[in-house]
Amino acid sequence: MIEQDLLRRFLFEDLGVRGEWVKLTTSWQGAKQHQQGPQNAQLQLGQALAAVVMLSATVKFKGSMILQAQGDGDFKTLVAQSTDDQKIRGLIRSNDQVPDGSLETMFGQGRLVLTIEPDNAQPYQGVVPLEGSNLAGALQIYFEQSEQLKTRLWLFANETHAAGLLIQELPSQESDQDDWERIEILANTVTEQELLELDCEDMLYKLFNAEEVRLFDAEPVEFQCACSRPRIERTLRALGEEELKDILQEQDSIKVGCEFCGEQYLFDRVDVETLLSQESVANPSETRH
Ligand SMILES: [Zn+2]
Repeated sequence: MIEQDLLRRFLFEDLGVRGEWVKLTTSWQGAKQHQQGPQNAQLQLGQALAAVVMLSATVKFKGSMILQAQGDGDFKTLVAQSTDDQKIRGLIRSNDQVPDGSLETMFGQGRLVLTIEPDNAQPYQGVVPLEGSNLAGALQIYFEQSEQLKTRLWLFANETHAAGLLIQELPSQESDQDDWERIEILANTVTEQELLELDCEDMLYKLFNAEEVRLFDAEPVEFQCACSRPRIERTLRALGEEELKDILQEQDSIKVGCEFCGEQYLFDRVDVETLLSQESVANPSETRH
């Protein structure tokens, strides 16, 4: 059976090192079908989605993790998001052409922001410069600086699959330097083809057949957008009554498209009146003219 749209965690129990493997197929194709932009920028999104699924699984939380790369070059913005139960979505904004090469070549001067948005708490984020040859490298720097956990990632994407491998020192159990180096050297022999084509068990056997590895049950990954009419209504309310009425002077209705999934939300005059009147109910102390 070919494994796809799955996250699998594994553990080198006696070494204090954990790992993750992810393979996205339908979810990757679903996430990118609404994105415009050159192929090389799209493939970066695939890598980022594989990364954010694995990274979100290294943290215990309820909510979503967002990986965002922003720069002043031809590649402007990349957003990849995963919930704690692996619902993913992403977007890219770029010029028609993005040069191939390092992160600086693609994004110019930029930054990489990793945000955790827990459902019932304040979000927190870490930022590192967007530097180095690829996203995996920039994320490793992030972990060295902010988490001080030895972490390595391998990320690959093509038109049909996006895949990733991660190894990380267990936070509670510092790994022996020799053990860590051995696992890292073995993991680093992984090829793009192996990661994109092999099932998890076959890949683990190929890389670590002399090691004792405990492999956990697979967790499904799905493309699913969190947008909804109430969320769009909140965004519109935040624009304010004047702004909305100005728009309605020029056109019959307000059309808002979701950049992640392409869903279109339409608000006619009655809808806008309704959402503005709901605001007055929500804020009874506010004086309205
Ligand atoms: Zn959406």
